[in-house]
Amino acid sequence: MIVRARRELRVGGLTPLTTIDYPDHLSCVIYCQGCSWRCRYCHNQEMITTNPEPGYGWNQVLNFLNKRRGLLEAVVFSGGEPLLQKYLPQAVEQVNKMGFKVGLHTAGSIPIRFSQVLPLIDWVGFDVKDLPSDTDNITQVKGSGQKNWQSLKLLLASHIDFQCRTTVHWQLIDEQRLVRLTERLADLGVVDYVIQFSRTNHMLDSTLGYSVLPGERIEQLKSTLTNILPTIKFAL
Ligand code: SF4
Repeated sequence: MIVRARRELRVGGLTPLTTIDYPDHLSCVIYCQGCSWRCRYCHNQEMITTNPEPGYGWNQVLNFLNKRRGLLEAVVFSGGEPLLQKYLPQAVEQVNKMGFKVGLHTAGSIPIRFSQVLPLIDWVGFDVKDLPSDTDNITQVKGSGQKNWQSLKLLLASHIDFQCRTTVHWQLIDEQRLVRLTERLADLGVVDYVIQFSRTNHMLDSTLGYSVLPGERIEQLKSTLTNILPTIKFAL
């Protein structure tokens, strides 16, 4: 039997209401199914496969949004990696026409599609994995560092509001490299930057262990990074 691919966005999940996924706006989050990277600390493994189980039909999502007009202010496309899907631009356009602001959570894994959707987006939560030369060790995909930074540069050139985030697991990055990464982002003009520490349960790479640094080293690091970029935030 031939199974035809759906000619619509593959949606693996939906959070109907959140206050934390789009700055200062009530939003919902649409989880786009599938990711072409395999970040070793990924704890969202059910979103990596391209088959949504059970998933939502795109019409179901549109019906939901229709009923939320006037209640929700923004719709966030998250993942997985939304850019993996060729029907993303059409889906974003439809949501735009319904009057919602549109947010995008992405690591920019497909720069060409990122440049296509950027003009339709109001805010981006952008995942900076590491310095370009060290990213492939996290994502386990060759060339991902170059794509991650190519998309970051597109974002910087677009003048769209954004926040950069980096997830830290101390077996994958050390303090010195995090300092260099922060310096590089500050030099490029990134202002809104959050460092979050990886959740260590349910990670894709089961050989990774706990990710801990002694408290005084964390405090020293925070102080160093804050000197480099005073607006940096830490999500512990
Ligand atoms: S980019 Fe990495 S962390 Fe995000 S969904 Fe894909 S594999 Fe997981």
